[in-house]
Amino acid sequence: MNDEFYMNLALDLAEATQGQTSPNPVVGAVIVKDGVIIGLGAHLKAGEPHAEIHALRMAGEKAAEANIYVTLEPCSHHGRTPPCADAIIHAGIKRVIISSIDPNPLVAGKGIEKLKEVGIEVTSGVLAERGNKVNEVFFHYIRNKVPYVTLKQAITLDGKIAAKTGHSKWITGEDARSDVHNERSKHAAILVGINTVIQDNPSLTNRNENPGKQPVRIILDTHMKIPADRKVLQDRIAETWIITGSEVPEAKIAEFENEYVRIIKLPSPVIEIRELLERLGEEGIPSIYVEGGQAVNASFLKEKAVNRLVTYIAPKIIGGNDAPGMVGDLQVLSMDDALGLRFQSIEQIGEDLKITSSMK
Ligand code: NDP
Ligand code: ZN
Repeated sequence: MNDEFYMNLALDLAEATQGQTSPNPVVGAVIVKDGVIIGLGAHLKAGEPHAEIHALRMAGEKAAEANIYVTLEPCSHHGRTPPCADAIIHAGIKRVIISSIDPNPLVAGKGIEKLKEVGIEVTSGVLAERGNKVNEVFFHYIRNKVPYVTLKQAITLDGKIAAKTGHSKWITGEDARSDVHNERSKHAAILVGINTVIQDNPSLTNRNENPGKQPVRIILDTHMKIPADRKVLQDRIAETWIITGSEVPEAKIAEFENEYVRIIKLPSPVIEIRELLERLGEEGIPSIYVEGGQAVNASFLKEKAVNRLVTYIAPKIIGGNDAPGMVGDLQVLSMDDALGLRFQSIEQIGEDLKITSSMK
């Protein structure tokens, strides 16, 4: 078997844990000796052993003189767990095959150096494109220190997100909505504007059969006008963070805060998206799934703070000028000023379409 075969297996293991390792990357490892797989591992949860350690434990003494396939450069620093490079050396591994180099400045190239110093053969960049893709979100977060932003909308064929009354349940069918729950589970947080919470009273939870980790719910609410009876404040299924401007009185904050509800007051009187993203990055949120409404969508797009757009299009038409469209005013006066996107994929989910695009 060739290197790519085992690396694909290691990448499958990594990919399967998408959404549960936050704020850590997903990593898979496979140990092979004389053409036989003797160890498999994946990093399952932050604070728990890394993929290499699980695989080495499974292989036991047989790991001596074996090859290890790892989707991400082994770590060389003492984090919450001891360095994997040391464990690989200690186990007597002969050759290390790596897909992506770790962009974390604490690791970047140092893990490989350490292995080479003791005479271990290292091959890196095997299936690097897939390796970088599975950790796209994590790499973005490490490099930029702000979350990776996915902007999701469910629209009608004529681009509306609700009827003129504000009624919006449901635009898309059951299959598309179940796909949304899947996407939610892959992000550390879900974000909406206060109007959506007031009008729709959404739960913003992942309600799949196997929900995994529930993302943090983030509400942009400058003056804390959120009514106390909203599901996001009452259900205690996931954490809710309310983001406010600087002018909200402390007494009001104390009234709302509990084990599940946190109020984060930003330094400016209005919520600046850049400031918000920096703060969320500091809070350890590597990715957010922005679910509108149109005002919030416009703010993120205006700031060019969107990495990926996921748009579900329902075969329905609402019509008229009063029903809200997907994005609020962007001050575009001619087609030359329109925001340019690149379509990446299109698929049919039940009766709806799902289009994924990136910003140009
Ligand atoms: P939003 O839900 O986008 O909330 C906007 C409000 O959020 C603002 O008025 C503002 O209120 C607050 N806010 C705070 N900071 C910001 C910021 N930086 N940028 C933007 N808003 C900020 O409201 P919309 O009225 O635009 O949309 C709500 C409608 O959208 C509902 O009818 C809902 O059903 C629909 N919807 C449809 C979806 C779909 O996929 N089809 C998804 C989500 C919503 P303040 O100043 O008081 O803080
Ligand atoms: Zn490690």
